[in-house]
Amino acid sequence: MARETVVPFVDLGAQYSAIGPAVRAAITGVLERGDYILGAAVGEFEKQFAYFTGTTYAIGLDSGLSAIELGLRALGIGPGDEVIIPANTFIASALPVSGLGARPVLVDANEDTYNIDVEQLERAITPRTRAIMPVHLYGRMADMDAILEVADRHGLLVFEDACQAHGATQGGRPAGSMGHAAAFSFYPAKNLGAYGDGGMLVTNDSKVDERVRLLRNYGSKVKYHHEIPGMNRRLDTLQAAVLKEKLVHLSDWNAARRRHAATYRERIHEDAVTLPEAPVGDEHVYHLYVVRSQQRDELQAHLTSSGIATGIHYPIPIHLQPAYKDLGYAKGAFPVTERLAAEILSLPMYPELSPEQIDAVAVAVNAFQYGQRPVRRAAVVDTIAEC
Ligand SMILES: *Cc1c(COP(=O)(O)O)cnc(C)c1O
Repeated sequence: MARETVVPFVDLGAQYSAIGPAVRAAITGVLERGDYILGAAVGEFEKQFAYFTGTTYAIGLDSGLSAIELGLRALGIGPGDEVIIPANTFIASALPVSGLGARPVLVDANEDTYNIDVEQLERAITPRTRAIMPVHLYGRMADMDAILEVADRHGLLVFEDACQAHGATQGGRPAGSMGHAAAFSFYPAKNLGAYGDGGMLVTNDSKVDERVRLLRNYGSKVKYHHEIPGMNRRLDTLQAAVLKEKLVHLSDWNAARRRHAATYRERIHEDAVTLPEAPVGDEHVYHLYVVRSQQRDELQAHLTSSGIATGIHYPIPIHLQPAYKDLGYAKGAFPVTERLAAEILSLPMYPELSPEQIDAVAVAVNAFQYGQRPVRRAAVVDTIAEC
């Protein structure tokens, strides 16, 4: 039992071992048909993904960022507009907004959910505000009922950044189905990931669907007829074929993530570490399992020397990034987000985590909380688990 337990942060190889034959067959199918651009698999995957998200239309794109950008553009967002986004998110939530010439207006995070603080939402609205973009961060949906209510009262659009929330729900409604449109990313490490880049825009609005389809393909429906100045933002047929195979497993994979989260909650003590708030029901899809500690850097170092990989999502808030110094936000503008950036740590989370690996993580986090030195040997680790 003196085996070293090494837990990677994610393990895409483990997933590939499980689905390799089906994925290879799907790729071979594309190679044999040769329909590399907007081929059969793209349309099939779009239909299946629309069904999965409870929406009418899904348009396959080359990234999550493109899905946000083309979605907002199709909704009419442009220069001079303001779009409200959470301060606590990945930079790709903000980049498409500023890329369209609109201004990202930030709102601080809720202390318990780490999502946009709906209590502060209304204060951020100005006459220029056109849309609210909640981000379902870490796989947990933002408080959509409250957001939709505020949006409704002020006549604003709601665009969901669902890039971390494939399969998440709220009150039985899937992520991506509650706003005017929503963006998903298929970056390899997302809950549903391609073997390269990919994204999807979903909506129930036929006009948005039509516009995004034009924008992604040179503004063209019929070859060499260009209705608007478009771009090339198409989802690859090869990636769509891979994603189609993977979508079949997504609900099981999300269920596995939830089981692992439940085990972490059972096994990890909350002394110097705060676990993610357990949401009601099975709504969270744990894209990331984010804990919080005032000794975050020491905890991370301890886990690293115990053979456990971790991440920080995200270490520098958007308003403190050099890229966004022109927005004019000062340090201290979003205190919750800034505290989170200093205190959060993402533990390993992926469906194929083994019970031994989860145990090793829990034991190492507990050992840190009770002042034990890092240990790499599973046998020694197990005795510490008794405390
Ligand atoms: C991954 C991600 C994106 C961007 O997706 P890409 O496919 O990498 O362009 C946008 N927003 C959030 C919250 C993300 O996690």
